This record gives sequence, structure tokens and C-alpha cells, in this order.
Amino acid sequence: MSRPVVTRFAPSPTGYLHIGGARTALFNWLFAKHTGGKMLLRIEDTDRERSTDAATAAILDGMKWLGLDWDGEPVSQFERGDRHREIGEELVKRGKAYYCYASQDELTEMREKARAEGRPPRYDGRWRDRDPSEAPEGVKPVVRIKAPQDGFTIVQDKVQGEVRFPNKDLDDFIILRSDGNPTYMHAVVVDDHDMGVTHIIRGDDHLTNAARQTIIYEAMGWDVPVMGHIPLIHGADGAKLSKRHGALGVEAYREMGYLPAALRNYLVRLGWSHGDDEIMTLDQMIEWFEIEDVNKGAARFDFAKLEALNGVYMRQSDDVELLAQLEATLPYLEGGDEMLARLDPTRRGQLLAAMTGLKDRAKTLVELKDGASFLFAERPLALDEKAAQILADGGRDALAGVVTKLDAVEDWRAETTEAAVRAYAEEAGLKLGKAAQPLRAALTGRSVSPGVFDVLAVLGREESLARLKDQL
Ligand code: GLU
Repeated sequence: MSRPVVTRFAPSPTGYLHIGGARTALFNWLFAKHTGGKMLLRIEDTDRERSTDAATAAILDGMKWLGLDWDGEPVSQFERGDRHREIGEELVKRGKAYYCYASQDELTEMREKARAEGRPPRYDGRWRDRDPSEAPEGVKPVVRIKAPQDGFTIVQDKVQGEVRFPNKDLDDFIILRSDGNPTYMHAVVVDDHDMGVTHIIRGDDHLTNAARQTIIYEAMGWDVPVMGHIPLIHGADGAKLSKRHGALGVEAYREMGYLPAALRNYLVRLGWSHGDDEIMTLDQMIEWFEIEDVNKGAARFDFAKLEALNGVYMRQSDDVELLAQLEATLPYLEGGDEMLARLDPTRRGQLLAAMTGLKDRAKTLVELKDGASFLFAERPLALDEKAAQILADGGRDALAGVVTKLDAVEDWRAETTEAAVRAYAEEAGLKLGKAAQPLRAALTGRSVSPGVFDVLAVLGREESLARLKDQL
């Protein structure tokens, strides 16, 4: 019987959870869910200078926002140093690794010689077979793995296929430094083994590491986990992902007003697809996701597509849920705190009533917030340039006429106010738009908004008439 699947996400806490890391986490998570397995989380914090608690917190926060949970407590790689040392020493005992006393000068000389001869810089194995009694006094050695010198190390990769690395290119790399600290290469293997990881899914920038790590697994006689090295994400123009292309932390996407579900749906299709399905539920993703179906070629990140997809998610969202999502996101949006402070029960009710009209006009929560801002505006409203223009270009006269009609409406609903505005337009010989546009400008301070009769209904009789009269 095969073991239950255990995947892991292993970010280095040197920065935010960037978009590539988020996709790696998502693929691991989906594969774990798909197979009924687990996903573990390991914080690779061995680089003490660059790792910060703030970055760890940001990574966990980003994962939670995307709805990617993990099993058990996050593991700190740094805290497992003793275990890494223990295995390093064990490898020496087994004759699979050895102490190397080569000095910095010797190593430099080796590198320069290799360069002069046009070879890649490789450790020449000078301590590989030397007797420990030859050790120079007072020198703290490093521990190097005794890597195979001939043949190939083969990585059977679920995405890349079989990848063969000539062993002559993989030298006896260091597993423990002279201060006893493990190298990254070694720590990852020991941790993945101890955590019972069966499947490693990560960026293909780690493919060469996979060969070196395989050498450590084999030296310990441990099973090599199944590997899947996923292609990196490039920009829409095919170039390596830069900030301009979207190489940002996931929190930046939250600030830009994307819905976590939409971003997840967008990310899953970066390098993986299921037929032509563009929009899928989480359950469908879980059901359909297979590592073997990940593409070998680099995926392209395209903001325009993300935005369009987000728009679809917004329109499909249930009004109550979208309002909850907006509320949860407001603290991260520019000017969101002020809106949140004024979101009393009345305004919440108004917002909900206007939601259908608002969400049709918004591709992001930022646009939704902007669209809703008229509900929060203080009288007399500040008009934007276009709205001011509409009123200046004869709009104010039409507005005066409309207000007279609206003043007479007692039963204030979208239908009754519409009838009043139509009646005015007909009498004045105006197209409906000529009467409705100034109305919109005065009610919202803008030239675009949800349907103007809905706006009237949402604001109510008193507030609507007051806003209109303010502009006369
Ligand atoms: N910590 C590594 C990174 O953030 C990942 C290592 C791994 O997945 O094996 O790139």
C-alpha cells in the first residue's frame, strides 16, 4: 500500500509571499487535497541575517487570505539545526561524507585553476580519501558529501520528465559548514525526510538542487520523494517576472482589490489547465488537479486577464458575501478606513441595496469602493470635473425642472421617481439622458454610477432632494 501523500510548502522568510510562491503553495495544497493527503509548512529560516519574523507573519497572512491552510504547526528549519548536524555526522560515520580541511586560499587556487583551464569551478576532492590523522591542527573542517564521480544522477520529475545530471558536474558539495551549521541543501533533505514528505512541488529553479539532494537521500538510504518542478512565471511579454509585471507580494493584490478566490483561480491556470475551463470552483480545481498536467513551458502573468477574471467573480458574487468581502478588505484599501468608520447599519443597508448596480460596474474592490463612495459623501457633495461640467453645460436648468417634479413624489421608489423624471423630460422636450445625467452628477458627484433611479431609491427621499437642491 502506498503511503498517504504529504506535500509541503517551504518559503524562505526573507520577504513577502510573492506571486510565484503563492502559486507553488496553491499547487501543493491542491495536490494534497486531490489525493486526500496533507500539506505541511516549513519556514526556511536558516539565513539568520535575511530572515525576519515580519516576513514569516506576512507569508502566513498571505496564505490565509488565499484560503490555503496547512496541517500541523509550521516547522522552523533553523530550530532543527541539531538534527541536521546529527545526520551530517552520521554520513561521515557511514563513509558517505568526510571532513575537509582545505583552506580559503586552497579553494581560491582551485577555482582559479579551473577557470584558467576552462572548467567549471569544482572542489577537487583533495580530502575525500585522506586519513583523518592528516588533519591540520586547530582547523575546523567542513563536512562534504562523497558524491558519485561517474555516471549520472537521475531526477524522475513529474513535470520535467527524466532529467540526467552527469556526476562529474556535481562535486563533493558541503553539507555542514565549519561552524557546524547545515547548508541549505542538506537541511532541506533532512527536513523533508523527517517530515515524511512524499511529494516535492516547487519552482524549477530548484531542479539542480534536486540532483544534489538526491545524492544525500541515496547516501542515507532514504526514499527520494516524488518531485515536480514547475516552470517559473514570466511577464506577459515573456521576460522574467519583474515588479512591473506583477512580481509583487500577495498583499499587493489585496490592496489592488482582487478577490482571493479570483486570484486563486487565476494562479491555478498559470502553468496548469483543465481543457478550456477558465473559471472553476475550488472543488473542481481539487478534483481536476494533477501534477503531470503542469506545463513544461513558462507561464505568463497577465494583469489584464486577472482583472477580467476578477470582474467575473465580482459579478457572480452574492451581494451579501461581496459586501462582507469589501468590509474585510477596506482596511487595506486607500481611504478604506474612513469608509469603514462610517459604515453604520443605515449605510450598510444602502450599500447592500445598491450592490447589484455597483458590482456590474466594478472589476475590483477598489472600483467597488469608489463606486459606493457617493453613499458616504457629505453634503454639499464635491463634484468631480465631469460632473461639474454636466451641470455647467445647461444641466443645472434641467435639474431645477426635475427637482420640481420629484418634490411632488411621496411614494419614493425607483419606479415612481423614474416616472417623474420622464414626465419632466417629455414636457421639456428633452431626451431622458439629458435629464438623468445632471441628476446623477448632483446625487453622486460623478458622471458614472449605478442606475440613477436606483441611486434615488437607495439614498431615500430626504437625502436625495437635499443633494439635488444643494446644486441649484
Ligand atoms: N526555500 C526555498 C524557496 O523559497 C524552497 C526550497 C524547496 O522548496 O525545497 O525557494
